[in-house]
Amino acid sequence: MTEMTSGTLTGRNLHLSFGHNHVLRGIDLHVPQGTTASVIGPSGSGKSTLLRVMNRLIEPDQGDILLDGRSVLADNPDELRRRIGMVFQQFNLFPHKTVVENVSLALHKLRRMPKDQARAEALEQLDLVGLRHKAQARPADLSGGQMQRVAIARALAMKPEVMFFDEATSALDPELVKGVLALMADLAQSGMTMVVVTHEMGFCRNVSDTVMFMDAGVVVETGSPDQLFTAPQTDRLKRFLSDVL
Ligand code: ADP
Ligand code: MG
Repeated sequence: MTEMTSGTLTGRNLHLSFGHNHVLRGIDLHVPQGTTASVIGPSGSGKSTLLRVMNRLIEPDQGDILLDGRSVLADNPDELRRRIGMVFQQFNLFPHKTVVENVSLALHKLRRMPKDQARAEALEQLDLVGLRHKAQARPADLSGGQMQRVAIARALAMKPEVMFFDEATSALDPELVKGVLALMADLAQSGMTMVVVTHEMGFCRNVSDTVMFMDAGVVVETGSPDQLFTAPQTDRLKRFLSDVL
């Protein structure tokens, strides 16, 4: 059998402080290839910082990050960032560029793909997120949901092994949330390895393989969605769930 293990992501005992603020206090996580881990927890608990440390936008003070079982900390950080696609709450699209240019730009500039090929690749990704017909539009002419689907297409165009989502639907009008969540669910179904920071408890419950509940820089509970939602073990998680559900 051929090995299909590309994309298994592991963090071990990760610590990170901003000055005196000890934000990550020994985080462990393991996301097997092809699975989706949701990260939930109150504001300020360190969820966004965890994603930024896991793709080495910030270097951890302590701990290790492994991809496919191999530590990546000795590599050039750019390499890990290439292997992990990231989608933020704010879409960060270039306003003066067309949709297809937004998707093809990094392929051309960072991957050195010839312009025609980058454009063809971008159109294919736009097709997958249902927005090929908007290729020539500017971001301002799109709805927030469409902008976020463009941002997802842009990340996918780089052929990442893992995708991170940081509250990807939090800035969207309620009626636009569903379409983006459906796209994320499709992506999870298709076998992408994903780490999803979200307040969408329905998505968390129905799509993720594991859920991590963070509070004050530690993983307080982790397990299957059923375990966490139907049988929370700690008062902190019980309180959190009663606030958000
Ligand atoms: P969450 O995403 O769970 O809301 P964050 O990871 O954004 O939490 O923040 C965790 C803590 O780290 C907060 O106390 C926040 O103020 C602090 N923090 C986040 N980013 C920075 C930064 N760039 N500089 C200093 N402190 C930061
Ligand atoms: Mg955050």
